[in-house]
Amino acid sequence: MASFIPEEKIVEIREACNIVEVVGETVVLKKAGKNYLGLCPFHAEKTPSFTVSPDKQMFYCFGCGEGGNVFTFLMKQQAMTFPEAVKYLADRTGIALPERRQTPEQKRRLSEKEAILELNELTMGLYQKTLRQDPKGQPARDYLAKRRFQKDIIDHFYIGFAPAGWDNLTRYFQRRGVPLELAERAGLVTRRKQGQGYYDRFRERIIFPIRDNRGRVIAFGGRVLDDALPKYLNSPETDVYRKSRSLYGLDKAQARCRATELVYIVEGYFDVMALHQNGIHNAVGTLGTALTTDHARLLRGYIGQSGQAILVFDSDEAGIKAAHRSIDIFAQEFVEARILVLPTGHDPDTYMMTYGPEAFQEKARDAKGIMPFLIDAAIERHGDSMEGRIKVLGDVAESMAAFQDPVARSVYIKYLAEKVDIDETAILDRIRQVSAKARPNTGGRSTFSAPQTSSPGKRSGGSKIERQLIAMMLQFPDILPEVRKENIVGLIDDPHLKAIGQDIINGGESLTASGARPEGHEREAIRRLRAQLSLIEEAWNYKGCHSLIHQFVLTKKRREAVPLEEQIREAERSHDEKRWLQLLEEKQRRVKRDREHRCKTGFPNEVD
Ligand SMILES: [Zn+2]
Repeated sequence: MASFIPEEKIVEIREACNIVEVVGETVVLKKAGKNYLGLCPFHAEKTPSFTVSPDKQMFYCFGCGEGGNVFTFLMKQQAMTFPEAVKYLADRTGIALPERRQTPEQKRRLSEKEAILELNELTMGLYQKTLRQDPKGQPARDYLAKRRFQKDIIDHFYIGFAPAGWDNLTRYFQRRGVPLELAERAGLVTRRKQGQGYYDRFRERIIFPIRDNRGRVIAFGGRVLDDALPKYLNSPETDVYRKSRSLYGLDKAQARCRATELVYIVEGYFDVMALHQNGIHNAVGTLGTALTTDHARLLRGYIGQSGQAILVFDSDEAGIKAAHRSIDIFAQEFVEARILVLPTGHDPDTYMMTYGPEAFQEKARDAKGIMPFLIDAAIERHGDSMEGRIKVLGDVAESMAAFQDPVARSVYIKYLAEKVDIDETAILDRIRQVSAKARPNTGGRSTFSAPQTSSPGKRSGGSKIERQLIAMMLQFPDILPEVRKENIVGLIDDPHLKAIGQDIINGGESLTASGARPEGHEREAIRRLRAQLSLIEEAWNYKGCHSLIHQFVLTKKRREAVPLEEQIREAERSHDEKRWLQLLEEKQRRVKRDREHRCKTGFPNEVD
């Protein structure tokens, strides 16, 4: 790995930054004893099991088993490569990375993303300038004035204008010597189908730069000034832009979302701007796509465990559609979501213009939860005749099945039972039917079934005492001479724990050096296990450690003394196949040994 970043630099960077701060930027963390706790960004959960240790500079999730150091966190959560994570943290901590010889391929791959970001920044600047002062920007200035957007909000969101014409940006790039192939990969220009050359993607459109949570321009959205189609045009996905993970305005909204534990999710760019202009700064937009699990998880990182998302729509129809589409996402990610539908003919902008921002916020406070909203909408649609009520049940049963949380589910069942006057058990039966139907095709829909009984992180790795021993070795290195003397690692059965133990004894060489190091998922499992064990809370001291070692050695000896047959039966009973095979081999060995012994002495060996 990281062939061009010297090891000592990596260590220096890791020591200079605080993992709690880095993680805390995207995950709400609360202090709990020595550690910090938050909702895991890597799996859906309702109660925090994601632990960050400032002492050890590690994170570990007791729910899904994800764990590691600050680099691993950025690689997993922000999809950075290792060199990117190192560079990001180096920049943050002000540590200069030496310029090293890189292969052209390394250079190209690393710099491609940076080059695209730089090009986006350049493009944003040009479009902003056009909007501010170019005569060609007049139609856009008129349009924004008509919609009553003020200059400071326009600047706040770096709004620009791509004027009419096919090659304004293309020629601008050419003058500056920007390779147009790169601009094409950035999604800014398009290759002509016939003939040679390129043309601008955005023409005669208001430009909304889409920035990530770190404020980097990752893409653009463009809106026409009239009724031309398509009304909105977005950048294609690129090396720096993933639609399903990006939200418009997040860079401006994140601090406020954190402070209020609330986020407004609106549909359009102008909606986001309108909310901000009215002093509601915790608003983001979904960029014209359906909300994804990634979005929900990302937002949950800012609003935290008790946070709320309010989805704002300008019509019942849009609200119902979105509610049906996103209910599983919110239910599975344990994000409390409400639906706010504005009166017909209003969007957030016109609503606040007419009634003021306070009225909007009040309406938000009264907004219905996503499930009651769907139930009420279904009743409205089908009426309360007998047939209507049955249809209502049919409409909402599937959505109700999305709720994993039994408390939430029973609350909604009660709500529906009262509204349509159908028995609760009948409703429950219907939901079960729907779930059962959904289960075989494993579409992830059937969250009504029992929760997962185990997660890979929890299950892996040996007996309790073996895990304790490794935790001790990781956290209390003073004991290592004793561990060596008693050959504790040699006595450990679990192969992963043994590997970690050997690694510690060897001073951290065997897993990192080349040679017989485990590969792929094996290595991943060991890494996770190691992170987990180094975070086990325990106050280590000599006395405790000695007694742990003593106890372990004793257990081992005692087990040796248990008749082999008994041990084999026990392994069989507990389905411990590995141990069972080991024991069978041992048995064969002993039988052989006994035979030899008998040959020599004429007496059976007395061990078994
Ligand atoms: Zn997790």
